[in-house]
Amino acid sequence: MQKNIQASALRAHCARILVAAGSSAQEADKVASNLVMANLSGHDSHGVGMLPRYVDAVLEGGLTPNAQVKTVLDAGALLSLNGQHGYGQVVGEQAMLLGMARAKEQGSCILALAESHHLGRIGHFAEMAVAQGLVSLHFVNVLTRPVVAPWGGADGRYGTNPCCIGVPLKDAPPFVLDFATSRVAQGKMRVAHNQGKSVPPGLLIDEHGQPTTDPGVVVVPQANGFFGALMPFGEHKGYGLAVACELLGGALTGGGTWHHPAVNTRAVYNSMLTILIDPGKLGTQSSMETEALAFVEWLRKSPPADGEHGVLIAGEPERRARVEREREGIDIDASTWEEIVGAAGKVGLAN
Ligand code: NAD
Repeated sequence: MQKNIQASALRAHCARILVAAGSSAQEADKVASNLVMANLSGHDSHGVGMLPRYVDAVLEGGLTPNAQVKTVLDAGALLSLNGQHGYGQVVGEQAMLLGMARAKEQGSCILALAESHHLGRIGHFAEMAVAQGLVSLHFVNVLTRPVVAPWGGADGRYGTNPCCIGVPLKDAPPFVLDFATSRVAQGKMRVAHNQGKSVPPGLLIDEHGQPTTDPGVVVVPQANGFFGALMPFGEHKGYGLAVACELLGGALTGGGTWHHPAVNTRAVYNSMLTILIDPGKLGTQSSMETEALAFVEWLRKSPPADGEHGVLIAGEPERRARVEREREGIDIDASTWEEIVGAAGKVGLAN
């Protein structure tokens, strides 16, 4: 049965499972808070539904609890770090703190983070940066089963490679654009499959390369043992951006790219190239503030299209969802809850 849980209770429950899976109390709190924040933000795909997968990855040895980010190279505005297969929610934040301090000092920082376990919602890192007045750009690759078809291809060759851009706006909530370069996030297909729903046409191909609306093709192996694939967003342009994420997030960071058939491990590795810019140090702070706000106000004056409520700025849907879900609680579908109960059982917790 679907459950509705308040964020604080969900955080505490997930943290208990993470501690039982070997994390310190502090790490468990951070990971649980990050997952619940994804649910609160309306991105259930990156919320507590990921926890069973994390537990499996720990038990398989692909995810290392309590790992810390390691500095590989520290050269002024260039920082190269390794996440040592630790929780992305932890090593990702550690990396951002180092990069943000460096950007404040030097005006910018190019931050390469290799070999992190799943970083979750990339917007979290942009939100950290914009809260300090920094602009931040993120290019991420995903090493796990390749689930997205290249434009013109008929099977999965790479991951959902997210891209994210955060820009602070003076006296207004920031612009935070944060998206998977597939038409939809893989986790959203897991959620739809768990809910027994089909999805709109145009998002998926099946294991034979044919269009389908069944999200199960990318969630469970099909009769021939193969999976289907997600389509890239934005046709050849979105595909190009996904390749850029693989080249920048995977190759340039040293984390590696995907170029082999699927493997059956539960771990999901992300590598992320982050570019942080301090507009104050660039000398454009005041013009950026004026021009950015003027542009956003200009956009908002567009009359609502038929059936729409008007123009939104990236970051707004997540902020609205947070207000609503903090108040109303978070809905967890029955299959996801069952998987969470199963994960707790695997680490010796009775529910
Ligand atoms: P999505 O399709 O919901 O797009 C989200 C972005 O679009 C947000 O920036 C949002 O503010 C903006 N947006 C949504 N509606 C809007 C509107 N009407 N007007 C203006 N802006 C609007 O997101 P997605 O592609 O499903 O990605 C979901 C999450 O998955 C992201 O947080 C992403 O970082 C994460 N992700 C992570 C990984 C990983 O491996 N760590 C991989 C893929 C995706």
